[in-house]
Amino acid sequence: MMTTPSSGPVVGTVHLVGAGPGDPDLLTLRAARLIMHARLIVHDGLVDPAILALAPAGARFVSVAKSRSRHTMPQDAINDLLVREALAGNDVVRLKGGDPFVFGRGGEEAEACRAAGVPVAVVPGISAAMGAAAAAGIALTHRDAASTVSFVAGQCKGLAEQNWAGLAGKGRTLVIYMGLATAGAITEKLIGDGLSPDMPVAVIENATRPDMRVLRGVLAGLDRIVSTHRVKSPALIIIGEVAAREDAGRIAKIAECAL
Ligand code: SAH
Repeated sequence: MMTTPSSGPVVGTVHLVGAGPGDPDLLTLRAARLIMHARLIVHDGLVDPAILALAPAGARFVSVAKSRSRHTMPQDAINDLLVREALAGNDVVRLKGGDPFVFGRGGEEAEACRAAGVPVAVVPGISAAMGAAAAAGIALTHRDAASTVSFVAGQCKGLAEQNWAGLAGKGRTLVIYMGLATAGAITEKLIGDGLSPDMPVAVIENATRPDMRVLRGVLAGLDRIVSTHRVKSPALIIIGEVAAREDAGRIAKIAECAL
């Protein structure tokens, strides 16, 4: 272990870095700089290979890929890995899809580092909601349609116990992360809370990636959209009047082509 004469062993820093929703152009400059100089990258499965390709030759990669049904590394083991590497003097770039503090368990990793005396810094990323909304041309708030937006997780402990009342409806936009597997239960829950079955919905799969799909419909048909189109993770569900509005994203694409 390296030491300094006055302050004892050198401890590395853990950077919790948001990698955005997929498109490498959507990294922050700070995230790109950290990746380009990284010696050790610990990353989720959601991080696009094109982003990992920015790392220098010789960088060490550790994948802690997670999916709903397959946890390759439990959260405690990830926390331990980050702490162990930092205490051994290694700076760690902990790369996460979207933003580290939006359904990313970044809070737990930051706490584990702080508890072990490891310096930790957080670099925000473009969360899937922002990436998907921009790419699909759906304004999450709109002067004429929504002045509130909420982010919820559809796949987490006790969906039935979560109180979403008031989060969706007229003038409100609800964005659901990890909602594919529970789309049917989500529909029932929201209609049970009084939401109209005709409320517009959009399902955005692989947002900002070359294979992105945007599927639109109404709340009562949400489950059907997911199953008929065989929507796969990662996908986001947007519920509210804004989901039916003019597709500004497509207009921008046409304009881009015309240049
Ligand atoms: N920290 C991440 C979210 C992690 S939870 C963020 O801020 O975006 C994982 C969920 O995010 C996925 O199940 C999906 O609902 C959503 N997600 C992540 N990337 C996405 C993408 N490119 N397109 C659509 N949804 C995405």
